[in-house]
Amino acid sequence: MGEIRKSNHFVNLNLNVRGLNQSATLVINERSNELIQQGKTVYKLGLGQSPFPVPKIVQEALQRNAHQKDYLPVKGLMKLREAIADFNYRHEGTPCSPEDIMIGPGSKELIFILQLVYYGELIIPTPSWVSYSPQARIAGRHVTWVPTSEVSNWRLSPEKLDLICRSDPDRPRVVILNYPSNPTGSTYPEERLKKLAEVARKYNLILISDEIYGLLDHEGNHVSISRYYPEGTIISSGLSKWAGAGGWRLGTFTFPENLRWLQNAMAIVASETFTSTSAPIQYAAITAFEEHKEIDEYLVYSRKILKALGNYMADRLRAINITLPSPKGGFYLFPNFNFYREKLASKGILTSFELCEAVLKATGVAFLPGMDFGRQPEELTCRMAYVDFDGEMVLDKAMNYFKDKPIDNGFLKSYCPKMIKSIDLLEEWLENL
Ligand code: PMP
Ligand code: GLU
Repeated sequence: MGEIRKSNHFVNLNLNVRGLNQSATLVINERSNELIQQGKTVYKLGLGQSPFPVPKIVQEALQRNAHQKDYLPVKGLMKLREAIADFNYRHEGTPCSPEDIMIGPGSKELIFILQLVYYGELIIPTPSWVSYSPQARIAGRHVTWVPTSEVSNWRLSPEKLDLICRSDPDRPRVVILNYPSNPTGSTYPEERLKKLAEVARKYNLILISDEIYGLLDHEGNHVSISRYYPEGTIISSGLSKWAGAGGWRLGTFTFPENLRWLQNAMAIVASETFTSTSAPIQYAAITAFEEHKEIDEYLVYSRKILKALGNYMADRLRAINITLPSPKGGFYLFPNFNFYREKLASKGILTSFELCEAVLKATGVAFLPGMDFGRQPEELTCRMAYVDFDGEMVLDKAMNYFKDKPIDNGFLKSYCPKMIKSIDLLEEWLENL
């Protein structure tokens, strides 16, 4: 009785995190905030969080629903699932029923649960978003990274996917295709989607189409691959990006009817883990998915701002010999600093991680190394999220004062000064290497 145990006895034993650290996106955010608290100026290009506020009518819906206190159905509130089915039809033109929808506390959780319940290897292009591969590791799934090349804007090629599947054609597999892409900002033309769909059909792949940035396609032209591979595609989305509601934690999966067995299996795990997604958030989300002029307008201007800022930043980077795909959607850039390899090496900077550390220390500009996205450490690629501006103010200016004028560099200089300054600082640092 009363055996005294050393605290580290509990800390070290029986951990099941497979040698993982906390997710890079969240670590860089907390680190940036700590530096800010210490009085430093930090340019936050690390965490990929929407700069825009949640649309006002959706905020008001949340206020009206603060009293909602009951546990909701595991797969989600039926009225919300109905609103999402209508929303999918309006945006994609493909019919789906409310039963095809599943709601979760963020699409991140839904992607994880799918990997937990389905015994398939995970196939992802490199680079890919930071969390897919760690989730597979936690769930004990094998990960196959498909190489891509900078000349093809780091996109998954149907031929390479076919090559991987051909070696063992009957193996159960989950492929995650994410576009507009985090981390590259590029997207897929319809022809490429059709070819990828053919390969997916040939090998009966389960395709998670992560379209969380779909509504932030800068031209408003996003097309879901589910059009071409309806029977095997699960569309992953949610409120986090296009509605500026990352912290609300509401994600959605849209299943084809013949994958109902998979949805049901996920609901078993959901029922034993998160139970159901927050009730006030689900009630409020109905308004976000309904048709409202205010939301359409919010999206038009969000895209306009992101397009202008993304192109401005990309042009500035190209002018100093940094290569990168043109931004087509979402709010990320994936610059390659290879031109500076020798100069950087002379300062002892040999990896993308060391590059990000050195830039943060010298300039206060925070962004993430390409190695967090599955690239080789020695490749000098990085991910920048162009989101460090006051989205509420910028949206208001763009909507009210620049209604019919294009968003020009003067606008960006006046209203997104930290983004401009971050490039100025980077340029100066590279010049003085
Ligand atoms: N997929 C991608 C590509 C992302 O960038 C994110 C980041 N939020 C997610 C999924 C997860 O989003 P959430 O859990 O907020 O729905
Ligand atoms: N998806 C965002 C990013 O890539 C942040 C949120 C997260 O990783 O969960 O930066």
